[in-house]
Amino acid sequence: MRRINLKKANVARADTIRYINRQIVLNYVREKEPISRAEISHETLLQRSTVSLIVDELKTQGLIYETEGESTGGRPPSLLRLRAAGYMTIGADVGTAQTTVAVADLVGRVVDKEVFETNPDVTVAYRRLLLCIQKFIKTYPNVEGIGACVPGLVDPETGTALFIPHFKWRNWAIANDLHEATGLPVTVDNDANAAALAELWLGRPEIRDVRDFILVLVEEGLGTGIIFDGQVYQGVAGAAGEFGHMTIGNGAPVACAAGSEHCWEAFASERATLARYKQRRPSVTDSEITFNKLIDNAFARDQAAKEALLETARYLGLGISNLTKGLSPEAVILAGDIARAWPLISDELRSTVAENILCSGLPSAPVFASTLGDDTRLMGALSLVLARKFASVVPA
Ligand SMILES: [Zn+2]
Repeated sequence: MRRINLKKANVARADTIRYINRQIVLNYVREKEPISRAEISHETLLQRSTVSLIVDELKTQGLIYETEGESTGGRPPSLLRLRAAGYMTIGADVGTAQTTVAVADLVGRVVDKEVFETNPDVTVAYRRLLLCIQKFIKTYPNVEGIGACVPGLVDPETGTALFIPHFKWRNWAIANDLHEATGLPVTVDNDANAAALAELWLGRPEIRDVRDFILVLVEEGLGTGIIFDGQVYQGVAGAAGEFGHMTIGNGAPVACAAGSEHCWEAFASERATLARYKQRRPSVTDSEITFNKLIDNAFARDQAAKEALLETARYLGLGISNLTKGLSPEAVILAGDIARAWPLISDELRSTVAENILCSGLPSAPVFASTLGDDTRLMGALSLVLARKFASVVPA
């Protein structure tokens, strides 16, 4: 049972209740379209007249529309659908190599996209990002908001990127700068948190119904996003979920971003897998191999690539078993390009989790590969806007 937070309590004023009911009806249409007023009323126990009032409001706001269902004799029922193109969202994934900016509709369908290199100079990188966003705002006039994710620590209250290790950027007020330049609401979060949010709002159906899960984002580094009770668990100043730096052992094949050879990231990131491959194939130079190439090689029966991936899978399994013991999630999702190697690594990873969780007496949480593909972080950036639109929290 949750203790009421008196600092953040939404007193149940009539308008609070109306807002929450509106969000419930909106989410019913989003998840279960096409759906009739009667079905919503039956499932929510809201009165028919209340549902009708809310439906009228949502129609006026251009969020939903009505179609005619099939007649089973008598008058055909009127069914409600989400007007997906009614509002547009802009998502920006600022990555260590590339920045991707996209425009999507309310169900996360991307309608336009641009990819460019991320300049290591933050001023130049921001200018390029803003230019692209402004171009999209001009082309799509009904943009509702902007979401952006970055590979580093973000203060969730202010949307300031506190530290981005890859570029050594500090205190980049990205949300504030974008808001001042565009006038639109801007939400910024860490990439692993955003990717977890994407699974929650846009992921596979079996995950959308789960309220407690952990997303493990394997890239150059390794990050985790924790979804707790249907929202991102942020911790103090957004610093929760830094499990990439939990201690796993000694003598990792690479050092983590902060220089330690004991961290999970040092054992299970893309860099760790590449280092394992190069130990087995010393003649291969850096320019000849990328992580994606390594996965392709493994599928093409390159034994060294397969072994490197399997060793990484074992370390992923070790870390996931530790997280499971501590947080007992309903599911764990593996995201990043490594998800493509799932058919090669899933048995090893799952059996490592199962072996290492035995002593706790806990059941082992199911581990899935993300189905959001290459664009998990971009979908995360878009979800930051969708979450605002569809979440139950009354906006401040
Ligand atoms: Zn570390």
